[in-house]
Amino acid sequence: MKNLESEASSAPEKSSGEVDERSNFIRDIIIQDIKAGKHGGRVQTRFPPEPNGYLHIGHAKAICLDFGLAAEFGGQCNLRFDDTNPSREESEYVDAIMADVQWLGFKWDGLFYASDYFGQLYEWAVQLITAGKAYVSDLSAEEMREYRGTLTEPGREDPHRNRSVEENLELFERMRRGEFPDGSRTLRAKINMASPNLSLRDPVMYRILHMEHHRTGNQWCIYPLYDYAHGQSDSIERVTHSLCTLEFDNNRALYNWFIEQLGIFPSQQYEFDRLSLTYTVMSKRKLLKLVQEELVKGWDDPRMPTLSGMRRRGYTPEAIRNFCASLGVSKTNGITQLQQLEYYLREDLNKHALRVMAVLKPLRVVIDNYPDDLVEEMEAINNPEDASAGTRKVLFSKVLYIEQEDFREDPPKQFYRLAPGREVRLRYAYLITCQSVVKDAEGNIVELHCTYDPATRGGNTPDGRKVKSTIHWVSAAHAVDAEVRLYDTLFTKEDPSENGEDFIDNLNPNSLEVLTGCKVELSLRDAAPATRYQFERLGYFCVDPESAPGHPVFNRTIGLRDTWAKIEQRAKR
Ligand code: ATP
Ligand code: MG
Repeated sequence: MKNLESEASSAPEKSSGEVDERSNFIRDIIIQDIKAGKHGGRVQTRFPPEPNGYLHIGHAKAICLDFGLAAEFGGQCNLRFDDTNPSREESEYVDAIMADVQWLGFKWDGLFYASDYFGQLYEWAVQLITAGKAYVSDLSAEEMREYRGTLTEPGREDPHRNRSVEENLELFERMRRGEFPDGSRTLRAKINMASPNLSLRDPVMYRILHMEHHRTGNQWCIYPLYDYAHGQSDSIERVTHSLCTLEFDNNRALYNWFIEQLGIFPSQQYEFDRLSLTYTVMSKRKLLKLVQEELVKGWDDPRMPTLSGMRRRGYTPEAIRNFCASLGVSKTNGITQLQQLEYYLREDLNKHALRVMAVLKPLRVVIDNYPDDLVEEMEAINNPEDASAGTRKVLFSKVLYIEQEDFREDPPKQFYRLAPGREVRLRYAYLITCQSVVKDAEGNIVELHCTYDPATRGGNTPDGRKVKSTIHWVSAAHAVDAEVRLYDTLFTKEDPSENGEDFIDNLNPNSLEVLTGCKVELSLRDAAPATRYQFERLGYFCVDPESAPGHPVFNRTIGLRDTWAKIEQRAKR
């Protein structure tokens, strides 16, 4: 717990050293393209999520780049749902993704769906077949894998590679009409089975899937694959700079091949490094597993790295955007420390969160020489970082709660808080001295008896005497009971999938601790969901949607940096 020293801290080191933090190689390419007058100096990007899960902090990096670069150069950015695989996609995800992009602070120019282009994509496929550039294959998925070869061995030609154009056209049309079962045939591009780039070895363009689509219903039973749909969708929208993560590096040649063969708008793909964070899994497939197996309480569980989980936890859009701006944009994947994200979170909350007093693990304190019926209003500062936030009155009376951790019967060295015979300052109130300790039959401390010095109202010492510690408190008669949920990382390992381990095996069994019977100051009784506070000396907390008037529930967003905890940890080592 913090001892009210200043929250001074330094920003994490930037990998980019001295250069402008916003500089990145994609930005440099755009600047050159504008100078060269490419596309008439027009810049257009898109953010293309597949609606098969909720957005996570990795997507935030992509969103900030796609929308940020377009805005910086006066261009446009579309939101396009890459909905070509009906087996995984749902409109629940579409809605959640739109809400998250808006929450993060971005507005799309056009809203599109790859499924809007199914008709056009089909026509282009017919065009490629007619030009002898695509053919219908009868190979099963397994046979196709065998024929593909490896990085060191060339592939073998598909036995149906030299079907006539007429036969291909007829078979493709029959595929579309639904005459064949799932998986029995595919449409393949006719490129080069010996190419060193495996994605050019006659890649599949269409597969048969009799499945209802969240938008096109049962209109289609053949669906285009990512590689065939993505570049053409970019081209239809006249995207100039199509940004994606490094794993698509090998697909770029194919992206270009389709565009060249079709002679359509030459969108270009650029790859940047994928964000990975320590103690976090990021792929939607893994996050879905956590949700489905009820290892977390839904996509918006405050421990999830999803934008909806982070929002519920108390993250601000500004903190996430600032973090994304601090990330490099490079050509090699690395791993970013979770602490870097937390730095930007604390920095933003420190500026904006209202300070209040709350006691998580209460210990009763009776001030013996304080009048029985007196209640005083103490003036408290709402935000020392923001004078416009003003002040409020906090009620003080004879019986208080303080934090159990702020008292030690036998204080170790460097523990400066309350102890028998010792004087401390109560924040915004008086100096008190501990006179005696009341214990229950098991020897647990249940109550302290203290005296106060009436001359120290507001925490001043007229004689200039020093006290080493200031602690927080709430008045017992005026406190509100609250539930507080404390979170730790969801995984115990920096890399939860290290050495091929199952990430589920590295779940942190203590990632959630629920405290009930916490005591918070009266001003929090009806706190509105999503309001963010700093509980003095404890950290930042956000009101959970499960709160009800009179029964507030808080999520701990993040702690303050805690000097005493560090001293104790060091001592244990
Ligand atoms: P996941 O593996 O989590 O499902 P994805 O790449 O399949 O991710 P998409 O919905 O296809 O998810 O991604 C939309 C966009 O977001 C893509 O351009 C993708 O490159 C980008 N993106 C996804 N994850 C990250 C990440 N961790 N860092 C940066 N960009 C990402
Ligand atoms: Mg994907």
